[in-house]
Amino acid sequence: MKSRIFHTRSEEETVALGESLAAELPAKAVVLLIGNLGAGKTTLAKGIVKGLGAPQPEEVSSPTFTLIHEYSPSVYHIDLYRLDQPAQVATLGLDEIFDRHAVVLIEWGERFPELMPENRIEIRLRTTGEDSREIEVNASSPSPSP
Ligand code: ADP
Ligand code: MG
Repeated sequence: MKSRIFHTRSEEETVALGESLAAELPAKAVVLLIGNLGAGKTTLAKGIVKGLGAPQPEEVSSPTFTLIHEYSPSVYHIDLYRLDQPAQVATLGLDEIFDRHAVVLIEWGERFPELMPENRIEIRLRTTGEDSREIEVNASSPSPSP
């Protein structure tokens, strides 16, 4: 997946962008959605999930896991907003999810960099107006793969 910058002018356009980005994602990928509250992270995630053709969300029942939505065995959406201690995040068993052959979308994961895999896709969302957003896809991983 190439690094690029997109601009959207409505929630619908961001969903549509998510759908088209879904087609480019590797089947196994960790995607950090980075941006302020209201930037459109969840909206973009909805589009990606839609594009991946995942069925309706099925929340995993364990209380700790309410932050993790399993849309299908190959599509996850995680929101770490309500957690502030790395120790709390460490109890979620994210590594096990990262190891799966799945697309894992994460909001607020950048707050816990040491718990995120090095090989990841980062998508940064910026509010540029009431209904306009700049969305930057950055596929680069810190070290080249062998
Ligand atoms: P986040 O998860 O980053 O906190 P959400 O996706 O939950 O953000 O919310 C984004 C809000 O911004 C929604 O209320 C949405 O209707 C609004 N919005 C306005 N313009 C856009 C746009 N271009 N893309 C995405 N959301 C937009
Ligand atoms: Mg959100």
